Amino acid sequence: MTGEQQYDVVVVGSGGGALTGAWLAQKRGLRTVVVEKTGRIGGTSAYSGGACWLPGSQVQQRAGIPDSTEGARDYLAAVLEDPDPEKVEAFLAHSPELVAELEADDGIDFEWLPFSEYYDALGRVPFGRSIQPTNVKRGELPAEVARLVRPPVELDRAGQEGRNTLSGGQALVARLAAMFVRDGGEIRTNLPVTGYVTEADRVVGVAAMTPEGPVQLRAARGVLVAAGGYEGNAERRAERGVPGDVAWTMAPAETNTGEPIDAAVALGAATDFSALGWFCPGLAQPDGGGSFTLGFRSGLMVDATGRRYANECLPYDRFGREMAAAPERVPSWFVFDSREGGRLPAIAMPEGDPEAHLAAGTWVRADTLEGLAAATGLPSDALVETVTRFNGFCETGTDDDFGRGADEYDTFFAGGTGPNKALTPCDRPPFLAARFVLADLGTKGGLVTDAAGRVLREDGTAIAGLYAASNSAASVFGSCYPGPGAPLGSAMVFASLAVRDLAS
Ligand SMILES: Cc1cc2nc3c(=O)[nH]c(=O)nc-3n(C[C@H](O)[C@H](O)[C@H](O)COP(=O)(O)OP(=O)(O)OC[C@H]3O[C@@H](n4cnc5c(N)ncnc54)[C@H](O)[C@@H]3O)c2cc1C
Repeated sequence: MTGEQQYDVVVVGSGGGALTGAWLAQKRGLRTVVVEKTGRIGGTSAYSGGACWLPGSQVQQRAGIPDSTEGARDYLAAVLEDPDPEKVEAFLAHSPELVAELEADDGIDFEWLPFSEYYDALGRVPFGRSIQPTNVKRGELPAEVARLVRPPVELDRAGQEGRNTLSGGQALVARLAAMFVRDGGEIRTNLPVTGYVTEADRVVGVAAMTPEGPVQLRAARGVLVAAGGYEGNAERRAERGVPGDVAWTMAPAETNTGEPIDAAVALGAATDFSALGWFCPGLAQPDGGGSFTLGFRSGLMVDATGRRYANECLPYDRFGREMAAAPERVPSWFVFDSREGGRLPAIAMPEGDPEAHLAAGTWVRADTLEGLAAATGLPSDALVETVTRFNGFCETGTDDDFGRGADEYDTFFAGGTGPNKALTPCDRPPFLAARFVLADLGTKGGLVTDAAGRVLREDGTAIAGLYAASNSAASVFGSCYPGPGAPLGSAMVFASLAVRDLAS
């Protein structure tokens, strides 16, 4: 398969943003192709929980929660640093329209997902305003889609059993892909995009590589790049100062290395890189990976000095940024006791087998805290003092050092029975310590775009025919992760706005 093929729209990537844009373009009668580098569609989006931060929609209204566009505007005004007001307004105005258009199709509907937002600020909705696509059974999907959707993270990374009901991000990807294929869209896998085809300053297609040689896919209306960030590219991470490591990113292997971003830069696209990512604590794995971890129920995190440095129940991106703030925090050790039978008292995706961790040394176990210190290399006096102090906070119900348990988010996952649900003592031997690294759910610097998703040059002019969304574009939220579903929600909105522009 070499030569040249003609479409109206070429969508690069197959995550939640890409597939939203692809379906909308196809629905508008534009002949659209999704071009995916790997053999599976969905990327990190398929690993995700599928939460979408799309405020003010009919779904929140149906659920009867106190969400509104105005409330979300207040919230973003309180939490964003240095926002682009035009893009924020475009996001707010278009979120409800997008959800209405999606739900008008039989192929997808959403439900409210209780999951606290990440900041205690004006406009916050109790237990959050994120929405999630409903589950879908594998048997209800077109065979092509069922075969192509990337498995959930536990299966893809740790070989755990697959499921016949797709939920979260898998449901989002599968549902959108099914709608796209049903409406005549084409999905092409194992086809890495290597660059753009241009004519007189306009992007008119993409260049891609097949095993048989290069191919050009022409796009009469435009190219939408929604192909992740550069989280899997060690060189780019180092150049742009992104903390963490390629080995610790949650993006699936062989996916997001940023060539579509590089190729746009070669055409003069402006970037806003600022070393940004969607960060999280990563449970170190015996194979060198790091598993996204959230929802600590008990235990405490210490740095190389044996001291705590933050509220362990902070929203994961905020905790990740605390980890990134000092070199002695990576790796950290998460110290916990045996109250959950030797399992990690948190949600880790995937957790891995405790015995395999112990054999590999990513976890250690000892009957005493002194023994744990010896096994980890942490200073014994400091570790004992830290745990003793922490256990004192559990008795009083107040974390005098970091305020753990004071915010709604802190107690969302924690089910302790003491005076503070988020403060459970670490006092049941044997004790364990798990090594933690700084993981990410993707980078979020990228191509500078306007409110219509058009890729801009340094002088603010648009590169005709080229659009970007998802982690390929610099995030509308900047350094902030406002709440669950912010990556997918913003990706979907700006992909949709891009299609509106290129279809007009
Ligand atoms: C366990 C987990 C849970 C999460 N939960 C949520 C959640 O509930 N809500 C939320 O909003 N976010 C969540 N996230 C984060 C979110 O999933 C990602 O940040 C987001 O999905 C990234 O979307 P994307 O489209 O930029 O990239 P991806 O979804 O990774 O898709 C990019 C695709 O582009 C392809 N591609 C890359 N380069 C090329 C190329 N050159 N040519 C062709 N194709 C290419 C890749 O192979 C990949 O398939 C979660 C992440 C993880 C790991």
